[in-house]
Amino acid sequence: MPHDSAHSLDSVFDWIDAQHRARRDAGLARTLRPRPARPSGDTSTTDLAGNDYLGLCRHPRVTRAAAAAAHRWGAGATGSRLVSGSTELHAELERSLAEFCGFEAALVLSSGYAANLAAVTALAAPPDPAGTPSLLVSDEGNHASLIDGCRLARARKAVVPHADPTAVRKALTAHPGRALVVTDSVFSVDGDAAPLADLARVCRERGAGLLVDDAHGLGVLGEGGRGAPHAAGLAGAADVVATVTLSKSLGSQGGAVLGPARVITHLVNTARTFVFDTGLAPAAAGAALAALDVLRREPDRVTRVRAVAGGLHRRLTAAGFTAVRPDAAVVSVRAPTPEAAVRWQAACRAEGLAVGCFRPPSVPDGVSRLRLTARADLSDREVEQAVATIVRTAPAGARGLRPERGL
Ligand code: PMP
Repeated sequence: MPHDSAHSLDSVFDWIDAQHRARRDAGLARTLRPRPARPSGDTSTTDLAGNDYLGLCRHPRVTRAAAAAAHRWGAGATGSRLVSGSTELHAELERSLAEFCGFEAALVLSSGYAANLAAVTALAAPPDPAGTPSLLVSDEGNHASLIDGCRLARARKAVVPHADPTAVRKALTAHPGRALVVTDSVFSVDGDAAPLADLARVCRERGAGLLVDDAHGLGVLGEGGRGAPHAAGLAGAADVVATVTLSKSLGSQGGAVLGPARVITHLVNTARTFVFDTGLAPAAAGAALAALDVLRREPDRVTRVRAVAGGLHRRLTAAGFTAVRPDAAVVSVRAPTPEAAVRWQAACRAEGLAVGCFRPPSVPDGVSRLRLTARADLSDREVEQAVATIVRTAPAGARGLRPERGL
């Protein structure tokens, strides 16, 4: 017996080694690069890689609120929300998020990823009285967390072409039972927006629910950053549920589901990533609450981040690069090959500019790209310098590329 189990473990780890060698040989291996702490005021690096869209991650009110929450409530939540992990701070954050985004109720979870798993799996209803399983209709460009939610859910799935309400209608028409349409509001790689109003119309025609992942819309889209569902007039609707992350525009950590109170009650009782997960750390809840308050008081941050995204796009396309016209804060620039994307990112880093790099398997073959994120706290001069660095370090063949999906 001991010999057999040792043998099977060897095989598993041999397989892992072979996989890693293949990835490394193809230039696709990923490594962690710990980011050194920067003294405040240090301008030696410009960050266009993170998702701190409004510059709130290091805002003194936000970091002070995180520390105060840890002092008052402890470093951790101590348990799952249903056992010991619900504090008054969590309840206040839930009220504040729901009120700001225009929904009846909210439920905070430990990440946006957990929020998406919770919402998709809990809303994929069991078979209807006729015994027909429910259907999940998912955009092919959706974030991994929505895809994983669909994989976990015991439902039929239809993956539909990107941002295509006609394809959604077709999938719904072909299915006689309950259905939920699942989409990002802003797609995380290309930065383009989903046609939410049209999708909602199709859903209503067919009696389907609509779940919108507004991870990249909160704080960036809608009046005062109230998000994409609010901008599309869908916030608070009886048949619309949204998820958000607290880790992008709010500069904190965690996620939430927003929707009708009966949906939130259902999640509290059934969503496994809520019920069996430790509650959000109080420091993260306190930081997100403070960030929401800054956002309410300083709506100019929202206009600014969109202007910065527009400026990045304008300058890059004028220089001959193929970039998606940003609907929110993400600007995606095509690279000729995955290797060129990696070299381009490294060359930018060497010049003090951090940018994201997307390549297979995160994106399909042939559409590798740099991913730039706009921030409200970037000056025009910083934007100009960042673009100059991207232009100067561009690999051969990076200009004049044909647009691909979503570009
Ligand atoms: N949805 C989208 C569209 C995202 O981009 C992300 C973060 N990459 C998530 C969900 C997950 O959010 P979190 O990082 O809070 O888990």
